Amino acid sequence: MKEKFCDLKDKIHNGERLNFQDGVRLMESFNLLEIGKLADFARRKKCGDKVYYSKILYLSPTNICVTLCKFCAFYRKPGDPEGYVIPVEEAVKLASNPDIAEIHIVGGHHPTIKLDYFESLIKGIRAARPDLWIKAFTVVELDHFSKVNKIPVEEVILKLKNAGLNSLPGGGAEIFSPRVRKIICPLKISGKKWIEIMEIAHNYGLFSNATMLYGHIETAEERVDHLLKIRELQDRTGKILCFIPLGCQPENHELKEAKGTTGFDDLKVHAISRLLLDNIPHIKALWTTMGIKTAQAALHFGADDLGGTFVNEQVMDEAGGKTRRGITTAILKQIVLDAGRVPVETNSGYGQSGINGNDKGGKADPAEN
Ligand code: SF4
Repeated sequence: MKEKFCDLKDKIHNGERLNFQDGVRLMESFNLLEIGKLADFARRKKCGDKVYYSKILYLSPTNICVTLCKFCAFYRKPGDPEGYVIPVEEAVKLASNPDIAEIHIVGGHHPTIKLDYFESLIKGIRAARPDLWIKAFTVVELDHFSKVNKIPVEEVILKLKNAGLNSLPGGGAEIFSPRVRKIICPLKISGKKWIEIMEIAHNYGLFSNATMLYGHIETAEERVDHLLKIRELQDRTGKILCFIPLGCQPENHELKEAKGTTGFDDLKVHAISRLLLDNIPHIKALWTTMGIKTAQAALHFGADDLGGTFVNEQVMDEAGGKTRRGITTAILKQIVLDAGRVPVETNSGYGQSGINGNDKGGKADPAEN
């Protein structure tokens, strides 16, 4: 018989926190509709019927990487003829597109590019588009910049913030479990270090997202542990605006053990993220990895953000993401309306003021802040 979760329903309705055991029970359950109902209740308490989306340009300045994650189909090793580095002027020109509200910049860990390149990139974009929300660099990249330039990560953060950075995209978290990281990304910083650097960035005033890569070799317990560590970080800093579960794309990479996700699992993980992360305002259903139909369904399973239009999304293209370019904000709006929700076009700041006196709020409802 399927578990009804009456005790968890009481907790959620009384505003009590779910604990580790509650999370594992939910993660191991097949009662998707009951979990969805609970998540929809939690979601409505946060944002009513609103669903967010935005016009985003994705930019990967380089695909050359020395970190060699097993689940990644994007990187090329140094010396590979398919490796590239986009010159700063070209990247700034791409970002000057007047039709975008936000830029998302992540790339490979190039062994020799200096911080000056990334500082000039952010400064150039900020000068060309003072109103743009600039979301760039995972904390793993920040750690890499610190090592390449032999300077403390605090200095890296400060320089990029002063150049005009608004927020960090929250990638590189994968799953914090040391057991899993040793197998899927042995050269990446530990989960503990990821949290430490993110906390430093938050304390320097940067907003961020946070992510979890699921659907590879992780257990239910490891998923819940990851979610609760994110919740603890948010309790300390309050700077995470959005949590994004990222389903592992099983194609084109070395991690043959990765099984990938199912629609059932996608909906369950988004719903449980909403239930456990009671202190994070938004949960994103990324349609490029889930497919547009599952992402739309996720709007009734705890998610309130669909992501956005995706231009130049190389990382997920190479990993075999299900749904490609060509989606416009008009289509995203219709998808939201067809799900019976209220569309709100915004950017990753959800109406937050940008840093350095730049008010980059987009069109989000100020009530959300
Ligand atoms: S996920 Fe990022 S760090 Fe890992 S190999 Fe790919 S580009 Fe490099």
